[in-house]
Amino acid sequence: MRDDLSSRSGATRVVIHGALGRMGARLCALAAAGDGVRLVGAVDRESSASSIAGGVRVTASIDEAPPCDVVIDFSSDEGARAAPALARQCGSALLVGTTGLSRETEGLLRSAAAERAVLVAANMALGVAVLAALARRAAAALGPAYRAAIVEAHHAGKKDAPSGTALRLAEAARSAGADLPADQVLSIRGGDVVGEHTLRFAGAGEYLELIHRATTRDVFAAGALRAARWLHGRPPGWWTIEDVLGLGPG
Ligand code: NAD
Repeated sequence: MRDDLSSRSGATRVVIHGALGRMGARLCALAAAGDGVRLVGAVDRESSASSIAGGVRVTASIDEAPPCDVVIDFSSDEGARAAPALARQCGSALLVGTTGLSRETEGLLRSAAAERAVLVAANMALGVAVLAALARRAAAALGPAYRAAIVEAHHAGKKDAPSGTALRLAEAARSAGADLPADQVLSIRGGDVVGEHTLRFAGAGEYLELIHRATTRDVFAAGALRAARWLHGRPPGWWTIEDVLGLGPG
């Protein structure tokens, strides 16, 4: 992984948007303790006067956010829509982990990439990036005679279904020729499941299953901080998690 750029010096200063959420809380804690990152600000619409995360005050308004190198958004579709304005306020690059983005929000984020480095990733775990690459290889090798399907499970509090990761894996498999109809992407919600994705190819006489299980949210938070360090100092443009991990699209 290329993680050092001559255009930057010192730790990557981050502001977390959605700081009081499940992911935001872990991001603030890991960033505050972080190697190569420094938590300088936190924003969440639910903030009150006494809200603190990772040792910094959480503000409700993006206008109070300090200058930083990378804004990290794990909030909601509405929050992600406000994230380019927050990055403008902070003079920073923008990393978005929020899933279930509307077309309008995606369009706004793509426009923001004309003026700053932007990276949107539905899943920041290294294992999922590898799974997407394996999905393409398996689909290309097995061909459309093997019916593909995805089953994903998440905790009851997850708002979008199917998960952004399931949609990304489906796109990866289809791009390599898999027969994967939309009704074969199935979602299960309940309990405290951090995230589980099974990609299945069923042929005559055999089936192949590729499974990724996240056992802690910290895998996403650590991945996001790694991506933030990588994004720090990049020129304006639309970057991907594959760029961060040095995994080509193939
Ligand atoms: P959550 O509901 O626990 O937390 C979201 C936080 O964002 C809340 O504190 C909420 O008050 C805040 N928020 C929402 N809208 C806002 C707005 N307009 N302005 C300011 N703050 C706002 O959710 P979560 O479990 O932390 O997940 C957040 C997002 O991250 C979801 O879309 C989820 O699917 C996604 N996620 C992505 C990855 C990944 O690796 N990319 C991993 C896990 C979760």
